[in-house]
Amino acid sequence: MPIKTVYKSSDNQKLLTLKNCCIHNLRNVSAEIPLGLLVGVAGVSGSGKSSLISDTLVPKLKEKLKNKLVSDDEDKNVDDEFLPDTEIGGTEHIKKCVIIDQKPIGRSRTSCPATYTGIFDKIRALFAKQSGMDPGLFTVNSKGGCRVCKGDGVIHYHVGMGNFIDLECETCAGTGFIEEAMSIMLDGKNIREILEMSVSTAIAFFKKKDKTILKMLQTLERVGMGYIRLGQKTPTISGGEAQRIKLASELGKSGSAKGNVYILDEPTTGLSFSDSERLIHLMQELVDGGSTVIVTEHDLSVLSNCDYIIEMGPGGGSDGGYVLATGTPAELKVNSKSIIGRYLK
Ligand SMILES: [Zn+2]
Repeated sequence: MPIKTVYKSSDNQKLLTLKNCCIHNLRNVSAEIPLGLLVGVAGVSGSGKSSLISDTLVPKLKEKLKNKLVSDDEDKNVDDEFLPDTEIGGTEHIKKCVIIDQKPIGRSRTSCPATYTGIFDKIRALFAKQSGMDPGLFTVNSKGGCRVCKGDGVIHYHVGMGNFIDLECETCAGTGFIEEAMSIMLDGKNIREILEMSVSTAIAFFKKKDKTILKMLQTLERVGMGYIRLGQKTPTISGGEAQRIKLASELGKSGSAKGNVYILDEPTTGLSFSDSERLIHLMQELVDGGSTVIVTEHDLSVLSNCDYIIEMGPGGGSDGGYVLATGTPAELKVNSKSIIGRYLK
């Protein structure tokens, strides 16, 4: 893939600033993150890049932005006294902040690509409109769920010694739906059959039915998720796939993403070369739409395609914790303080 040679320049008025960062090995670091760009935070393992972003920037943003910060990680509760010495500025420029990680899409047992991206509600609305029934009939979480297996499609049998086996529910034949829900068709398909469709198959099915559903499905296909089933359960979706579904979910939304900030921590971990390339394009697309993407990375292809790099180092652990160099990849290449500069493409 071609390496970026023209960098988007930062509007000096719009900076996110961090002062007095001292968690873990950070040496009372200050950093300026220009908004509206693809910003890479680089450095060797343990140099402090995750301490700066995941452990300082993200909790400080949570504290300031409250519910304008979207994350699947609800474990980290932030109180007002968290990182009391660290100051953050510039958050007034942020419309919404989204953490795009490799954690599972949603926590509910019925979470799937259709629910996460919001198209499931739209599909149920189509069924409800056509049949005149309650939309709740078309989900296993509500009226439509099998009474025996509670919508799971399987029944857990205790076989002794604390062991269980799962057997298909005979009442609903493993569908999780009650018969009434299954008997209602949308263009010859019931709700269960639609959830079994792959994204690519569903694109053909919804083409002339609903523009919003179609746009989200096409975005999922564009991030390489054409093969995934709409109702595919979370445990069978890998971390890399979950991350791309989250990205697609943001890219496929109607309305402007201008002013949004997306934070990705080592997103290329576990991805193939072509998937990494695809990810770079998607991050660039978000930036082209007026968003900021902040990415901690060691991958040189990703870093070489950033508009601005903050390099942490020089070493790991007690040898790290400083900001070594900042600037465009081209500037880092000629900056004698930079270590990664000489390796950038
Ligand atoms: Zn059942």
